[in-house]
Amino acid sequence: MIIRPDAVLLDSGEIVPGVEVCILEGTIDRIRPWTKAAREESGLLLSCAFVNAHSHLEYYDLIGQVEADDYWAWIQEIVRLKPLRPMHQVAEAAELAAHANRATGVSAIGEHSDWPVSGDAIRDAGLGGRIFQEVITMREWADPEEKVARVAEAATINAKSSGLPVHLAPHTPFTVHPDALRAIFQSGSPTSIHVAESRYEREFFERGEGPIAGLYRQLGVPIEPPGISPVAYIAALGGLTESTQLVHACDLDEEDVWRIGSARCKIAHCPRSNVALGCPPAPIRELQSAGATVGLGMDSAASSGPIDMFAEMRAAVHVAEGRGDVLGAESVWRMATTDAAISIFSERRWEMIEGGQPDLMLMDTERWTRLPEIIANCAPRSVMRVINVAKREEPASQPAP
Ligand SMILES: [Zn+2]
Repeated sequence: MIIRPDAVLLDSGEIVPGVEVCILEGTIDRIRPWTKAAREESGLLLSCAFVNAHSHLEYYDLIGQVEADDYWAWIQEIVRLKPLRPMHQVAEAAELAAHANRATGVSAIGEHSDWPVSGDAIRDAGLGGRIFQEVITMREWADPEEKVARVAEAATINAKSSGLPVHLAPHTPFTVHPDALRAIFQSGSPTSIHVAESRYEREFFERGEGPIAGLYRQLGVPIEPPGISPVAYIAALGGLTESTQLVHACDLDEEDVWRIGSARCKIAHCPRSNVALGCPPAPIRELQSAGATVGLGMDSAASSGPIDMFAEMRAAVHVAEGRGDVLGAESVWRMATTDAAISIFSERRWEMIEGGQPDLMLMDTERWTRLPEIIANCAPRSVMRVINVAKREEPASQPAP
């Protein structure tokens, strides 16, 4: 396959006109000057496709339904609304969300799934990536194993329908029994966990206080605060490794950042969701400097709003500015492409380079020709086509343990 756009966006952020990209067996074989005047991709810019590092397709129908500007109020409302929906409604929502991902230029996704339906949606929209089947044992504290076995069944269904790797993933450090957390981390499979999204987690783990402690009391779950930060708690259970994706990672102290970076953890940064729920701004520059790879995620539409990677990139720049950091256009584009692929443990080299194996997208950027302008002005309507260049990753892993 040879694609001859007007210009190609390289990983450096440079936009090079007059070149074509030759794909051979799922790999970029050559990037060279046009060899033919006739071009099907006239007027378009070619880039690596986006990767959505963190998603909940199954909440798409809750877009605009949850009005809360505080994390705890929001999560309580979601917990109330979630079970009121019939399965077919959840499945339809997931289908719409998967197609909306494709429409904004996403070709691979790190999906946190709660029901056994997002696998179908991912397949139908032609997305790759992997599924993290969420484990929550709040209501099964006395016997978490049975709940984990039920989640593993849903994981098997999603693996079969999507054809993608599916892994068990603890929802958060406070909603999963420590034995189940330890077992998942020790399995060595890639996993993903929401952590330090709000300051309430620290309040709970360090001092046994706050609304999380209130929830534990309400459910009759014993409160045994370890007296350490949520990140240190995950580390103590064997979960801080390069096979762990930490979602959000907002409320971190310096030692947390150092631990995460030294362990080469992956991060999913979801700035629109964080802003909507009043979460502390995540220390992205510090995490990257410490050694973590940060991908951008669009979380659920219930908190982030419309599925739009350009809006997510703008929010990332804005959140960094709020911390006094400058997040350059090339860096934020990389967080939405190459680094997001690393964040979801893709084995493909997601780079616009000879030997690279990214999926690709063609955009009509209208009059915008520089990357900062493209990020500032483009939208899902700018994405003309997403091209799957490689076959899907093999579902190599089992939904263990
Ligand atoms: Zn999430």
